[in-house]
Amino acid sequence: MDVEFIIIGNEILIGKTLDSNSNWMAKRVTKYGHRVRRVTTIGDDLDIISDMIKDVLSRNPDLIITSGGMGPTFDDMTLEGIAKGLNRELKLDEHAYNMIKTSYEKAHRIGLLKLEGMTKERKKMAYLPEGSVPLPNTRGTAPGVKIKQGETTIFILPGVPAEMKAMFLNVITPILKEKAGKFIEKGFLFEGIGESQIAPYVSKLEHKYPQLWIKTHPRIGLSVEVELSITSFNVDNGEELTDKALMDIKKIILTLNGKIKNRK
Ligand code: ATP
Ligand code: MG
Repeated sequence: MDVEFIIIGNEILIGKTLDSNSNWMAKRVTKYGHRVRRVTTIGDDLDIISDMIKDVLSRNPDLIITSGGMGPTFDDMTLEGIAKGLNRELKLDEHAYNMIKTSYEKAHRIGLLKLEGMTKERKKMAYLPEGSVPLPNTRGTAPGVKIKQGETTIFILPGVPAEMKAMFLNVITPILKEKAGKFIEKGFLFEGIGESQIAPYVSKLEHKYPQLWIKTHPRIGLSVEVELSITSFNVDNGEELTDKALMDIKKIILTLNGKIKNRK
């Protein structure tokens, strides 16, 4: 599946918060053989959110996952922005309302929060774009949302990492597993040869194995170390091809008097 992320939050744009959500999600999407095509970070701005969802939808990804801006405060406007972008009304969702009410009741009962009952701000989180399926938030209050738009499924997740992760694991991982492709990554470190020296050989191998993605990453240390990695997505004999390409590149490195350091 092709996947795009929209990371929403002013705090990320001003450098207060480092976006760790996209990195965490990208690892999991990739692990199950799906491709993250694009990650876009935007602020809490109604029109920007609405334009962005339309822009991402125009590329027809299978999944769009957003994080952030789901809370009770006025500056959290992800749901409103997405509703606008999809031309749908925001409607009070009874299931979402009950989920929020129950979680605040619990938080009050165990002494976590002093304020009891549903307020305007708390109720705000229950207004979802028409046609949404609310997703339970086991670690917080704001429910997540699932919406189908054409062939694309949109998941709207909270920004708080613990809440986002719980929802992702409960709801998105099963879909990633069910439609899993095959992702292979293998590699090793070598030293004594720089990245630019090996580059023409890597280019030749890229031509020999067009299904693979062969890349080098320089690492700074006491000696010049280069990491080589080969990845393949959904290639039938990916395992075999990757091993062959690894053998080829190792031979080249040894011929050039490089030293192979380890396997990953
Ligand atoms: P809340 O109900 O807490 O308001 P929310 O969905 O509205 O949740 P945000 O207001 O966007 O989420 O973010 C809440 C907190 O979560 C932020 O202050 C930040 O610390 C953290 N956070 C948000 N987005 C990210 C992200 N992409 N990566 C890491 N942390 C994030
Ligand atoms: Mg918030």
